[in-house]
Parts: sequence; structure tokens; C-alpha cells
Amino acid sequence: MTLIKPQDHAITVLLVDDQPMMGEAVRRALQNEADLVYHYCPKALDALRFAATVKPTVILQDLVMPEMDGLSLVKQYRSSIQTTNVPIIVLSTKEEAATKHDAFLAGANDYLVKLPATLELVARIRYHSRAYLNLIQRDEAYQALRDSEQKLIAANLELQSISNSDGLTGLSNRRHFDEYLNAEWRRAMREQSCLSVLMVDVDNFKSFNDHYGHLEGDQVLRSIGETLRKVCQRPADLVARFGGEEFSVVLPATDPAGARDVGERMRAAVEGLAVPHVGATTGPVVTVSIGMASVTPTAETSPTGLLKRADEGLYKAKRNGRNRVAAFDD
Ligand code: GH3
Ligand code: MG
Ligand code: MG
Repeated sequence: MTLIKPQDHAITVLLVDDQPMMGEAVRRALQNEADLVYHYCPKALDALRFAATVKPTVILQDLVMPEMDGLSLVKQYRSSIQTTNVPIIVLSTKEEAATKHDAFLAGANDYLVKLPATLELVARIRYHSRAYLNLIQRDEAYQALRDSEQKLIAANLELQSISNSDGLTGLSNRRHFDEYLNAEWRRAMREQSCLSVLMVDVDNFKSFNDHYGHLEGDQVLRSIGETLRKVCQRPADLVARFGGEEFSVVLPATDPAGARDVGERMRAAVEGLAVPHVGATTGPVVTVSIGMASVTPTAETSPTGLLKRADEGLYKAKRNGRNRVAAFDD
């Protein structure tokens, strides 16, 4: 539904009455009101369609019409999306309270015995139209507020995801890794569960860059990042780019045997990418070395200490010939 804004919409009157004489009488009554737009519809069956087209700010509705009783029409306006809130003034020849009662019950906003003095008719038309236009304005302001709130939420989510992710690989960045490791550390402390981390470093990557170029090197880092992420199956596992050609992995609720298993699968998966590397000391393809460390946190241990041990494991893997998984305390 296109909503009407008060500033670009004149007061618009729709008279629905089977007698052309009435149509003419109301037209004459309103002819001196320069800001009023007037429409006349003589057929009850056309009224809803007519109203949807001219978008009245008030409907003057005859009560007795040959094709349809006016009250049924009032109920139809109320249940149609375009007219559900449009004020309806019922026009009738009858003065009885019971008839008025029925009109209000059907959804009318006002009741006039036709045809009232021009002054009164115009005053009521203006009163109801303004109320309606104010309602629309309020709804639109509310909708605009909701829209901008939604945009703000989306923008914040986007911002958060940008500030948490690494531009090259799309993985978590170092900042997010640190945050996540600290949060998981506290959880493991509370639950007294075993927390593991892996440090993954590409073997002989300097010589890869020297031989194939940095752009090709970047592409390899992307593939490795994606490969490591695919190996992690639990939702709580987090793979990050730690920096340069190093990746780090948080494995909550994972013991040393589990961490070694994940690490070994990562090592094999990277080797399985079969990216040629002529300068490698480990064979003809790009490989990674992985250091691992696990701990059930205590007051004497820390996330930094855990990372340091994983790093020591990594150096051990490098010393022992690369393309392998090692723990410092193996
Ligand atoms: P090692 O097997 O001992 O790990 O040898 P290495 O050559 O991988 O180790 P080193 O730390 O000497 O070199 C790391 C190299 O990784 C340096 C640089 O050429 C490359 N590198 C680091 N960050 C990036 C990056 O963002 N893109 C590319 N293409 N290369 C990077
Ligand atoms: Mg390195
Ligand atoms: Mg390296």
C-alpha cells in the first residue's frame, strides 16, 4: 500500500450515494473550499474500487442504496486494506438512535442526517480528514524509524564482521582470535574442560614467494585457510589467521588426542591440495607444520602460556623436519 503524506495530499472527499441529486448538492456545498478535492460515486458496487483509486481522506456514505445496504459497504471499507482507517461519515435521512447505533457498530466514525448545513458538513469533513492525515503521518514516521533501526542493526553487524575478519582469507583475524580464546578459556575454567590450540605455519613459504611471486603466495594462503576451516567440524572450533603465513585454531572441549587428530587431518589436507613448490625441503608440494598444546585451565595457567606452548610445539615440528604435528611436551 502506498501511504499518503499530509503535505502532498489535499483533503479528498468521496461521496457514495445512488442519487445524482445528492452528488450535485454536495459538490455545490464544497465548491468554495479551494483545498478540497471532491469525488462522487453513484454505484455501491463500484465504491471500493473507486476509493482505492482516489484515496479519500473521508468517505460520505449513503445508508440506503439499491444494490447494497450502506452498512455492509461500511464493513467492507473496514476490511479492505486501502480503506481500513479512512474515516466514514454515514449520511442518512433517518434520525433514529437505533440506526445511528448500527452505523457506529458497523465501523462508521460519524453520522449526519442529510443534508446538513454547508458549514457543518465542511467542518466535519475537515475534522475527520485531518485526524486521518495525522494518523498516516504518525504511521509513516514510525515506519521510517523502524527502517532506520533495521539499517543500523545491519550496519553494525557488517561492521562487526569486518572488524573481526582477516581481509585476505575471510577467516577470523588476530583480534577476534584473542577475544575468542579468552572467552573459551574462561568457559573451560568454569567447566573444568580441556582446551586445545593449534599453531599452523606454512613450510618454506619465503622461498615459495620468491619463486612464484607474492600474488600466487596470497592465493595459497587463501586455499590453506579454507582447507583448515573445512577440517574443523564443531561449531565452537575457530580458525584464524594469526598473521603472515601463520594460522591459529581454538578447539574447545578437546583433549590432546583430539587436538592431534584435528592437527593431523589439517596437515594431510594441506598436503592433499598438492600445490607445487619446487623450493620445498619437504617434497614437491606446499605443506604446513603444526604445534599443539592443551590445558584444563587453573589459576596458575593463562591463554598466553597456552599459545607459547603451542608455538614451542611448532618449532619442534620445524626442527624435526616440517610437514608434521608436534607438542612441546611430546
Ligand atoms: P619455515 O618453513 O621455517 O616456516 O620457513 P618460512 O620461509 O615459511 O619462514 P619465514 O618466517 O622465514 O618466512 C615467512 C614468509 O611468509 C615471509 C613471507 O615471504 C611470507 N609471507 C608472510 N605473510 C605473507 C602474506 O601475507 N602473503 C604472502 N604471499 N606471503 C607472506
Ligand atoms: Mg612463520
Ligand atoms: Mg613458515
